[in-house]
Amino acid sequence: MADGADPTPGALLDAPVHEQACALRAGAVTARALAEATLARVRAQEPALHAYITLTPELALAAAEAADQRLRRGDAAPLTGIPIAVKDLLSTCDAETTAGSAMLRGFRPIVDCTVVARLRAAGAVMVGKANLDEFAMGSSTEYSAYGSTRNPWDLERVPGGSSGGSAATVAAGGVPLALGTDTGGSIRQPAALCGILGLKPTYGRVSRFGVIAFASSLEQVGPFARDAEDLGLLLGAIAGHDPLDATTAPLPVPDYTADLARGIEGLRVGVPRELLGEGLEPGVREAVEAALAQLAALGARIDRDVSLPSVGASLPVYYLIAPSEASANLARYDGVKYGYSAHDGPGMWDDMEQTRDRGFGDEVKRRIMIGTYALSAGYYDAYYLKAQKVRTLIRREFEAALATHDLLLTPTTPGVAFRLGEKLGDPLAMYLSDLFTLPVNIAGLPAASIPCGFAEGLPVGMQLIGRAFEESTILRAAHAYATVTDWHLRRPGAVAAAAMPS
Ligand code: GLN
Repeated sequence: MADGADPTPGALLDAPVHEQACALRAGAVTARALAEATLARVRAQEPALHAYITLTPELALAAAEAADQRLRRGDAAPLTGIPIAVKDLLSTCDAETTAGSAMLRGFRPIVDCTVVARLRAAGAVMVGKANLDEFAMGSSTEYSAYGSTRNPWDLERVPGGSSGGSAATVAAGGVPLALGTDTGGSIRQPAALCGILGLKPTYGRVSRFGVIAFASSLEQVGPFARDAEDLGLLLGAIAGHDPLDATTAPLPVPDYTADLARGIEGLRVGVPRELLGEGLEPGVREAVEAALAQLAALGARIDRDVSLPSVGASLPVYYLIAPSEASANLARYDGVKYGYSAHDGPGMWDDMEQTRDRGFGDEVKRRIMIGTYALSAGYYDAYYLKAQKVRTLIRREFEAALATHDLLLTPTTPGVAFRLGEKLGDPLAMYLSDLFTLPVNIAGLPAASIPCGFAEGLPVGMQLIGRAFEESTILRAAHAYATVTDWHLRRPGAVAAAAMPS
């Protein structure tokens, strides 16, 4: 812990995880006291923020007590005793897992997903299941069947999505860490809109076992945090091969915090011109341009002569592949095996139809219909197969650009957080908020959103895209940038004000 820092649990809530861990190990605070202070703050914020579908205070306190025993025994891991929020798409066997859907109201999985099992083994303290768009389909958390989460910078605005609850609670100072999932931007986009860091790992870096599936070839679980070191700590705790997920890579997991301070002298940063063009709000462009100048001042070599000619096709490619996979993955919700089940029809087929009609929200139904159409005989070649071919082109263009650059840099989102309801009637407008993040999932690469300024008083994020399995380079650049800027240290006042007793 930094010299002179206040070790009381309340003061520690705003400290980075690495400082919290030092205080815990030094015995300056117990995991139980930290958990109690965290729960008290989260509860005070919830009426204004609604970041959680389920709070799990009993589980948190039991985990904290177990962490205290480990700390006393001296066998603590870096995350032992650290509070964390978990997106409610991740199966937990002792807490309801809803995926933000009425279809799974009350659902108790029989196992923990691998990432949660790893966090529990590390001694982390889960405080609750965070809100999300239904089945992770959306960009605002307004498609949750459990109500919208608010943006802590402006409670009339969305936190982004689909992992909006995870981002909002970290940004508001509720927990220092959270897990989200990212299929097309669902970690990076809410991280940008809430002013924190969020990282989508390389496809295959983190296990998807026990993660409720949306689009299996695109999604990864990843961390939210308030600085690069904490982001690396959480990534290191969840990454690695998993025999239960055949798509995980059998590669060793590096220490993601080891290289942070190395600096970025000589680092080659490419700026794809197609992703800094039209459709960008002026305030976002200004913030990203200023960040480029700062990275150059830190010694990075900025190259604006980079082109990804096919990247403009990312939105249609994504909105064919993701719904196609979703239509297959969501076929299991038939009212027979688990989840909501209607029983008031004249026969089995009517019951199944009613189950899916009442259990799914409109956006999920839209995806299932698009996907079923794109996969049907006669259309498969025209849509799905063609999208797969363009996917290969996009992937190759990224690989070529990253052969001569260490990182690519883009804005994370075209604009700042939008107002609640603003895009609800216009699915395409909602889809466009992931314009810069979707291509990275299509290519399977790692990328993070890093706070890089404000526009209209709201946070702006820049996206750093790395080579496959080179998350460390992204974290190193984020850390270097944070040594000369303080955007990541800015905290919203809106929730604190709303949570004050009047
Ligand atoms: N907003 C995108 C969608 O609706 C991405 C969601 C995600 O990354 N889970 O599909």
